[in-house]
Amino acid sequence: MTLATQLSNQGVPCTLAEIDPGWKAVGAGLTLNGASLRAFEELGVLDQVRSAGHIHGGRKIHDIHGNVLREQAAYVPAADDMSAGGGILRPTLHRILSSATRASGATVRLGVTVDALSDTGGGVDVQFSDGTQGRFGLVVGADGLMSKVRRLAFPEAPAPVFTGQGCWRALFPKPRDVQTIWVFMDEGHKIGLNPISGDQMYMFLLESAPGNPWREPADWPELLRERMAPFGGLIGELRERVDHTTSVNYRPLESLLMSPPWHQGRIVLLGDACHATTPHAGYGAGLAVEDALCLARRLAEAGELGSRLERFTNERYPRCRAVLQGSLKVGELEMAQASVDTQLAASADLATVVREYA
Ligand SMILES: Cc1cc2nc3c(=O)[nH]c(=O)nc-3n(C[C@H](O)[C@H](O)[C@H](O)COP(=O)(O)OP(=O)(O)OC[C@H]3O[C@@H](n4cnc5c(N)ncnc54)[C@H](O)[C@@H]3O)c2cc1C
Repeated sequence: MTLATQLSNQGVPCTLAEIDPGWKAVGAGLTLNGASLRAFEELGVLDQVRSAGHIHGGRKIHDIHGNVLREQAAYVPAADDMSAGGGILRPTLHRILSSATRASGATVRLGVTVDALSDTGGGVDVQFSDGTQGRFGLVVGADGLMSKVRRLAFPEAPAPVFTGQGCWRALFPKPRDVQTIWVFMDEGHKIGLNPISGDQMYMFLLESAPGNPWREPADWPELLRERMAPFGGLIGELRERVDHTTSVNYRPLESLLMSPPWHQGRIVLLGDACHATTPHAGYGAGLAVEDALCLARRLAEAGELGSRLERFTNERYPRCRAVLQGSLKVGELEMAQASVDTQLAASADLATVVREYA
C-alpha cells in the first residue's frame, strides 16, 4: 500500500493486486517504534496515525506480580524522536493506508493473485488468477511471509524458519494510567501492554513453543488464561476478564532473511517477503514501510533499472539484518530464561540498533 501510494503520487501508473477480496487486517494491536513513526511522517499519514492510534514515549518494567522494577516516565514525543513509540489497531492502520492508496489513484484489484510471471527483458507478463493478463515495467512482491512472488521468481530463496516462540495478543479497555508500554517479566515469563488508542490497549505474551504445536482458535481464550495464571497485579485482573468474547490471537514466530539481491530482472521483493523479523523491536511493519519508501525514491531516479534495484537492496539489507539479528537474540534469551537484566540489556541494544541506522 505504501509503495502503490508513493509511486502513484510520483505519477507512475500502478496496480495493486491483493488476494484478500475483503482487503482487511487481523484485529490485533501493532507496536510502532520511532523509526516507524518517521516513515509514516514521510508517507504523509503520521497525523492520522497519531489521532487514531496512541503515540507515546517512556516505558515501565514490572515483575510478574506488578511491582515496578524500572520506570522511564511517560511523555508525548515529537515526530522525530527515535526513542518514541506507539500502538495502533491493525485494522485502523490498514484503513489509513488503504485510504491513502485509493486517494493516490492507484488501481486496486481485490481477490486476485499472480499465477505466473514471465520477465521478457522489456517488461514482465503477468498471468492473474482471474484469467486476466497484464504487462508491467516492474513487479514488486510485497505479499508477506509466504510470498507467492518469491516462490515464482526466487525458487532458491530460503523458506521462513520457526524461531521457537509463539506470540499471544489480546485487546482490552485501557486503564487511564497506562500511557506507555508496560512490561511484566521474570526470567521465564513476559507480557506487555501497549495503548493503541485513547481507550484501548493490546496485550502481548511471548512464550517458548517447542515443536510449534497447533493451537485450536476456539481454545485461544482458555489457553491465554492458563498462560496468564503466574501473573498478579493488573495482569491478574485482566486475566479474570478473558472469556470467549475477548479478541485473542495466537501466531508462531517465524523469521526469514534473503541474501541480496532482492531483485531478479524486473521483479523485486520487499517487506516480509524477503526479511521477516520477530516483534521484539516492534518494527516488522515499519521496516516494510521503509522498504517501500526507499524503493520509491530509487525508482524516481534516472539510470538503469538493475542498478537502482541493486542500490535499494544494498541500502536496506544491513538494517533489516541488524534488526532481525537483534530481535532473534532477545527471543533466544527469553527462551533460555536469562536474567531479567540480561534480557533488558539485549532489548536496549536492539533499540540502539534501530536508532543507529535511523
Ligand atoms: C505475532 C506477530 C506480532 C507482530 N507485531 C508487530 C508489531 O508489534 N510491530 C510491527 O511493526 N510488526 C509486527 N509484526 C510484523 C508485521 O506484522 C510484519 O512485518 C508486516 O505486516 C509485514 O508487512 P508486509 O507488507 O511485508 O506483509 P503483510 O503485512 O503480510 O502484507 C502482505 C499483503 O499481501 C497480501 N498477499 C499475500 N499473499 C498474496 C498473494 N499471493 N497475492 C496477492 N496478495 C497477497 C496479504 O493479504 C497482505 O495484504 C508482528 C508479526 C507477528 C507474526
